[in-house]
Amino acid sequence: MAMWNPWRGCHKHSEGCKFCYIHKGDFKRNIDTNKIVKTNNFYAPIEKNKKEEYKIKSGQTVYLCFSSDFLIEEADDWRKECFQMMKERSDVHFIFLTKRIERFMDHIPNNWDNGYDNVTVGCTIENQATADYRLSIFSKLPIKHKNIICQPLLEEINIEKFLDDIELVVVGGESDYNARPLNYDWVLSVREQCKIKSTHFEFRQCGTYFIKDGKNYTLNVRQLCSQARKANIDF
Ligand code: SF4
Repeated sequence: MAMWNPWRGCHKHSEGCKFCYIHKGDFKRNIDTNKIVKTNNFYAPIEKNKKEEYKIKSGQTVYLCFSSDFLIEEADDWRKECFQMMKERSDVHFIFLTKRIERFMDHIPNNWDNGYDNVTVGCTIENQATADYRLSIFSKLPIKHKNIICQPLLEEINIEKFLDDIELVVVGGESDYNARPLNYDWVLSVREQCKIKSTHFEFRQCGTYFIKDGKNYTLNVRQLCSQARKANIDF
């Protein structure tokens, strides 16, 4: 597994961004998150060592743009080169997530066709409104590997009609002192929809405030993923 952040910074875009970890981290370090800047790692996938071998080894999964949104407007002039690098590195698999899926078709390269075999796109949603808007677009896009990320999930949602070509649905809560709670019933409801459609499902993390069987729990950061794993409901 490798990280590739060709640029950093982002603007809050919808309800799910309220406690964005990038904004929170930058605030502590006095960095302006709303300034989108290229990083020194822009060419990471094609960088080579002294032996002329790629530094990112063949077969790795590369998490792309986890300190921004890959489809953010300010990066429109930079993205083309990123797609070229992804094409060149067809021996590794790239994954990026976005809350701006409506921009996708206008910002893919000419040779995209039905998608690159080595790219997974994750469409992030947080409530029924964003699910209906973003997934109705996402479901029509030419992408070889599609995931839906329901994180932070803020209410019960029905996404069954959008699951036909989805490989994986991830569900998680929100992490913050003022976080909105995650109700386990909402998690199980999405899981049931995935079961009906034979779509892989992963409960990735509880929220700081987690409701199960009518009881309220407050979890610390270390417990968020471990408690979700303990539920043992992935498939
Ligand atoms: S789109 Fe993602 S990275 Fe950008 S502000 Fe929202 S949560 Fe943060």
